Formats: sequence, structure tokens, C-alpha cells
Amino acid sequence: AAGQAVELNSHEISSKRIIILLHEVTKLQYLESVRSDFVANVSHELKTPITSILGFVETLLSDPGIDSDSRMNFLQIVHRQSNRLKNIVEDLLSLSRLEQSGKHISLAPCDPQQIMRSAIDTTGHQAAQKGIKLTLSPSSDSVPIMANEALLEQALINLIENGIKYGTEGGWVRVEARLDDTYCIFSVQDNGPGIPAREKDRVFQRFYRIDKTRSRQQGGTGLGLSIVKHIALCHHGEASVTSTMGQGSTFSLKIPRGSMPD
Ligand code: ADP
Repeated sequence: AAGQAVELNSHEISSKRIIILLHEVTKLQYLESVRSDFVANVSHELKTPITSILGFVETLLSDPGIDSDSRMNFLQIVHRQSNRLKNIVEDLLSLSRLEQSGKHISLAPCDPQQIMRSAIDTTGHQAAQKGIKLTLSPSSDSVPIMANEALLEQALINLIENGIKYGTEGGWVRVEARLDDTYCIFSVQDNGPGIPAREKDRVFQRFYRIDKTRSRQQGGTGLGLSIVKHIALCHHGEASVTSTMGQGSTFSLKIPRGSMPD
């Protein structure tokens, strides 16, 4: 009877092992499918501008007598698509760097007001070009937080640029920061088209766009918000959005204030 019990136990152990092994295999299969989805997405995103560049360059090469207006038009398209390629590659590199550095980014005391001002300085020209009013809400307290200034500025730039890209002429984008005991909450609010409730989480996924054509026309890479999300995660914070269709969206970036060095 004792031998039987031992045998039973070893059966149990081996079936547990099999279950664990199957679990690991499923996890690996899942990771592999995420990876190959990602590679397929990247390839597709890169292929679109490359096909367009090749097509227009081939037309220019095959017809030396092409009129100067058409030539200029084709070169402008080639220029725009080359910029798109550059942006996609830059965004992919940012994402991969963020994933690699993970939670080990360097933090230093920085002033939220200053970060917002720099982000607004960088995007002011784009806003003016589209006739969008870009403002910084005044804040009474200027308390430093522990953060990575360059990354936070990048996150705010991405959010402001989206507000400008998807906003309409004569619209506005407002940037502000609030502090509570634990967090500094940055928000970027616009009066643009808004985001449907069912899309609110998806927009933070890589390459997800509500309207692909519109995003591409605006020079979007589909990676801006996933970079914002990763920057928040690297700070042990979070990124979220609230929105009312037809009225606008408010993107928030919640960052722990962190303990300040003495
Ligand atoms: P993209 O490069 O396409 O702008 P993002 O990751 O920055 O990529 O955004 C993902 C999608 O979320 C966009 O394609 C757009 O459909 C939607 N979106 C982002 N910001 C806004 C906004 N402020 N207003 C409306 N839609 C937005």
C-alpha cells in the first residue's frame, strides 16, 4: 500500500509538471504570436511609405521630360513619405529603449511647470500653423517632483501633438498639472473630435488608430500613445483618457511625486 501511495504521488508530481510545462509552452506560444504580430505590423507600416517612395521615384526616373509642377508634386510626396519612415523608425527605437530600460530610468528633481513650458515651446509652431490655441493653465505651486525630465517632456509633446493633429482649426489645447499628496497629474485637454468609449484602452496599443487614413495623412505613426504609456509605466505611473464624443478628450499622465533627496 505504501508503494502504491508513492506511485500515486509521483503520478501527481508528473502530471503537475506536465501542466506547468504546458502552461510554459502556451505562454511561449503567446509571446511568439505577440512578437510575430508586432513584426507583421512593423513590416506593414514600413512597406506603405517605401512603396510610395519607390513608385514616385520610378516615375520620375522613367520620364525625364515630366513637367516641373508634377515633378515638384512627386518630390514633395517622396519627402513626406521619407519623413514618415524616419518618424516610424525613431518611434520604434524610443519604444524599444523604454522597454529595455524598463523601470531603471534615471530620475532627478524637476519642475512640472518647466517641463510643460518646454513641451509647449516645442509644439507652439505646429499649433499656430493649424490655428489652434495652445495654453498652459497657471498653477500656484511650483513643487519639484522626482522624474526623468526628457521623457516626461516627450510624453507631453506626444499628447499635445495629438491634440493639434486631431483638432480642428480654431480649436484649443490646454495643458496643466495638479499635485496631490502622492502624485503629479499632468493633463492635456482638447476640444477635438473625442474618442469613442470602446476605443479608450485600445488607443494606447501599438499601431492602433481609430481612423488609419486620417492618422497617416497627419503623419502619425500609431506609436505616440504607446510611448506615452511606457513613459508613465517607467515612472511607476499610468496614462489614461476621458472623452466625450464631439466635445473633446483629456489625456492624463499620473506620475508619483517620489521622495525628494535631502
Ligand atoms: P498616431 O500616430 O496615429 O497619432 P497615437 O498612438 O498617438 O498614434 O494615437 C492613436 C490613435 O488615437 C490615433 O490614431 C487617433 O485615432 C487617436 N487619438 C489620439 N489622440 C487623440 C485626440 N487628442 N483626439 C482624438 N483622437 C485621438
